[in-house]
Amino acid sequence: MLQNLFDSHGHYDDPRFDEDRRSLLLSMENSGVVRIMNIGNTTSANLAGIELAKEYPFLYCTVGIHPDQSAEIYAQNSPAYLDVLAQQSEFSKCQAIGEIGLDYYYDDNAPRPIQKIIFEQQLALAKDLKLPVVIHSRDAAQDTMELLKKYQPKGIVHCFSGSADMAKEVVKLGMYVGFTGVITFKNARRALEAAAAVPLDRLLIETDCPYMAPEPFRGKRCDSTMVERMAIRLAQIKGVEPQQMADITCENAFQVYNMER
Ligand SMILES: [Zn+2]
Repeated sequence: MLQNLFDSHGHYDDPRFDEDRRSLLLSMENSGVVRIMNIGNTTSANLAGIELAKEYPFLYCTVGIHPDQSAEIYAQNSPAYLDVLAQQSEFSKCQAIGEIGLDYYYDDNAPRPIQKIIFEQQLALAKDLKLPVVIHSRDAAQDTMELLKKYQPKGIVHCFSGSADMAKEVVKLGMYVGFTGVITFKNARRALEAAAAVPLDRLLIETDCPYMAPEPFRGKRCDSTMVERMAIRLAQIKGVEPQQMADITCENAFQVYNMER
């Protein structure tokens, strides 16, 4: 069993954890998981993440509005949500603004121009607050890169699904790249090429739990104990020992989230 695992992206506010959230989180220390970053994506999830971070010493949180929520936020026609995010980010265990970004796969959830407005507002907010960002980008590589170049944030492109060339561009901007269970799938050629293109000091492992369970748990509910599989797979790709990969990605997560040991 690997030690020193940092799950850089999970959603423990999700109802799929309602039944056993507490026992599951209390089991993490015995599973080699030393830190979990709970990622906010809606107004209510942001609040729930803060509460979880208060309860569990090893769990930290981020706050942000996911692109799927942007139409709803935009319809409220009020910049007040930015004030709320800024206020929530003052919590001592809130480490970043995210997840924010663009999702053109579920295009119906919000028109692209509106997604861009909400994304840009939060990029600007993160810049003002000097916080890193957690970026969600799906089928929207070109527009995402354009805005990342414009705002030059520090942070992570999570659940990376882009090309090796995009991965290189992200690294060039000084950002980190997060890989989920997708890299353990048999047909994951594109994700493998992207992972190969990212230098060791920019790699992160993440579950995106409860989604994206790695092999051999594919289709089941995912949790942070499974992040070990991502470390093992990335270690194979990079030709290092699995524990070394766990140590490297843990250190990288501490760096990008500005956390102390
Ligand atoms: Zn997520």
